[in-house]
Amino acid sequence: MSDPAFTPRTGGCQCGTVRYAITGEPLQLYVCHCKECQRQSGSAFGMSLQIRSGDLTVTAGEPRVWERGADSGNRLACWFCPTCGSRLWHENNPSRGWKTVKAGSLDAAIDMAGAVHIWTSRALPGVVIPPEAQSYPEEPPE
Ligand SMILES: [Zn+2]
Ligand SMILES: [Zn+2]
Repeated sequence: MSDPAFTPRTGGCQCGTVRYAITGEPLQLYVCHCKECQRQSGSAFGMSLQIRSGDLTVTAGEPRVWERGADSGNRLACWFCPTCGSRLWHENNPSRGWKTVKAGSLDAAIDMAGAVHIWTSRALPGVVIPPEAQSYPEEPPE
């Protein structure tokens, strides 16, 4: 992805204890309307910026991890700030080579125009999926 809009490079949690930097170009931005993302974020959907696993460096603080099972049977490692609780990124365990950063934690505003909307079958009433957006009712194909 070479869109200059996709050049946010730093981010962190709500209290500022945990900070991270991203090198390399992100792979994709997903907006996920599934119930897990609604519950995790306490909001209408989750925003996940997919990056290569090696492209994220923690620059301050010590994030903690909590794991949950996914519908696919995989384990998902969910990293968060132990002080303020902000969720920061997810990664499959074992890793599949990529992480998804919670895009609202980036310092720079992210352009959602190119986002891929997934699990649109679970979108809250009143949430409008842009008709021009790439979208999937459930998981996108691999
Ligand atoms: Zn924090
Ligand atoms: Zn989701």
